[in-house]
Amino acid sequence: MAKNLVIVGGGAGGGATAAEAKRTDPSLNVIMLEQGRFVAFAA
Ligand SMILES: Cc1cc2nc3c(=O)[nH]c(=O)nc-3n(C[C@H](O)[C@H](O)[C@H](O)COP(=O)(O)OP(=O)(O)OC[C@H]3O[C@@H](n4cnc5c(N)ncnc54)[C@H](O)[C@@H]3O)c2cc1C
Repeated sequence: MAKNLVIVGGGAGGGATAAEAKRTDPSLNVIMLEQGRFVAFAA
């Protein structure tokens, strides 16, 4: 069964973490939660 990774915050740090996690383990199910309207606007 695939592992889940939940990232709270869709800023530069959240996006970079999601990308690196997927590179490390492509089978990961990555969920990014962002409270604002835009994701990675500062990246
Ligand atoms: C005015 C200003 C100008 C800047 N200019 C530059 C620049 O020119 N070049 C540069 O390299 N850097 C710049 N920076 C710095 C850059 O913006 C930050 O280093 C970078 O955004 C940090 O990314 P982060 O993901 O750690 O945090 P953030 O960008 O703060 O992302 C955190 C995210 O988490 C979300 N969040 C918080 N709590 C929750 C919650 N409970 N549930 C869901 N989502 C949540 C927030 O909405 C936010 O989107 C600037 C910063 C500022 C303030």
